[in-house]
Amino acid sequence: MGWVERWGRARSVVTELMVGAPDSRAARGVWYNSSVSEPISYSLYLHIPYCQVRCAYCDFNTYAGLNDQIPVYARALATEITGVGAAAGRPPAHTVFFGGGTPSLLPLDALGLILDAVRASFRLADDAELTLEANPGTVTRDYLVGLRGLGINRLSFGVQSSHPHELRLLDRLHLFGDAAQAVSWARAAGFDDLNLDLIFALPHQTLDQWRQTVDRTLALGPDHVSAYALSLEHGTPMRAWVYRGLLPMPDPDLAADMYLLAHELLKQNGFDQYEISNWSRPGHACRHNLQYWRNLPYLGFGAGAHGYAAGQRYSNVLAPGAYIERLSDGAPSPFPTSAARQQTTALSRDDEIGETMMMGLRLTQEGISLTEFARRFGQPLEQRFGREVRQLTARGLLETDGGRLRLTEAGRLLGNQVFLEFV
Ligand code: SF4
Repeated sequence: MGWVERWGRARSVVTELMVGAPDSRAARGVWYNSSVSEPISYSLYLHIPYCQVRCAYCDFNTYAGLNDQIPVYARALATEITGVGAAAGRPPAHTVFFGGGTPSLLPLDALGLILDAVRASFRLADDAELTLEANPGTVTRDYLVGLRGLGINRLSFGVQSSHPHELRLLDRLHLFGDAAQAVSWARAAGFDDLNLDLIFALPHQTLDQWRQTVDRTLALGPDHVSAYALSLEHGTPMRAWVYRGLLPMPDPDLAADMYLLAHELLKQNGFDQYEISNWSRPGHACRHNLQYWRNLPYLGFGAGAHGYAAGQRYSNVLAPGAYIERLSDGAPSPFPTSAARQQTTALSRDDEIGETMMMGLRLTQEGISLTEFARRFGQPLEQRFGREVRQLTARGLLETDGGRLRLTEAGRLLGNQVFLEFV
């Protein structure tokens, strides 16, 4: 799943135990950066809402047992991309992210069709980052070679745990050995940008078991690691099991220890933390997700996808069948609308300011540039949030350094308390 889709669930330790919030911002037609008067380059999120089974903890917009729909869904997705790209006059784009669901269920010909639509409808940068989320156990060596041939240059594998009993608890179909095999095939296929996703704070999970998972994951040699605390989302079997007393409630103190342990192990192994839940080797930060955290525009395509463009935040109809149906009429729509839109919200300046603060403070090194804030909103950050910044700084949760406002290490554990002060 893409970061925005997972926004409401698998956040940092901190966030899990507290609140969540949305994304976004934009302008008209092709977006223009007011300071340089050049078209803003978009990030494109493509949602693939199909999975082999639904995992016990998952509340994403994804469906099991509908894989027969995939070819027609791919055509609908290509239609939506073509329509929006044409309405915007074939604007620049620099990242494409296939999220889900399980995008690795898409056959290569379906992916090729979608990527052809992207390239025909957007001016894709030569060095564009093209990510595909994949579940270990759904890929073969030939499939990965085929992905590389289509131009996909970054893979994100949902590893989650190295322990069979934890993977079973999560209803994941793979074993850690499948992840190791997938990583080795991906390297052989020429992928030099690999993310591995992990989940911690599982019921019954000990600190030692988590340490083993992080150590084994590091032994696979990834370029990027995401680690999110388990979140008990409404409507999921996992939440029901915990609330019925069949599984223990995750312990927030243990979750914080796990988070700090992961950070320490990753740091020792040459990874830089650049976001609350994301670590990378130098040069391997996820450019697509940075677009969200910098609160820059992105276009979402597919069932239930979210977007942020032309001063609006929007989302598409959830059900893949309804999405396919809506795209079948082919009527042109003004940018950034498409026939699949279900909800559109016009953003006020205050919305954008609040979201920029909340998203930007997730970036643990970059934080929020005071100069950029003043340029973007025509008002110094100190003037707008002077009291909040002073109080949070006095509590040791925020720091200002080199013209940037960012969370302190202590602040990373209490991110949502900080974010709430700005919205
Ligand atoms: S594979 Fe991922 S998207 Fe699919 S059900 Fe499991 S957690 Fe959800």
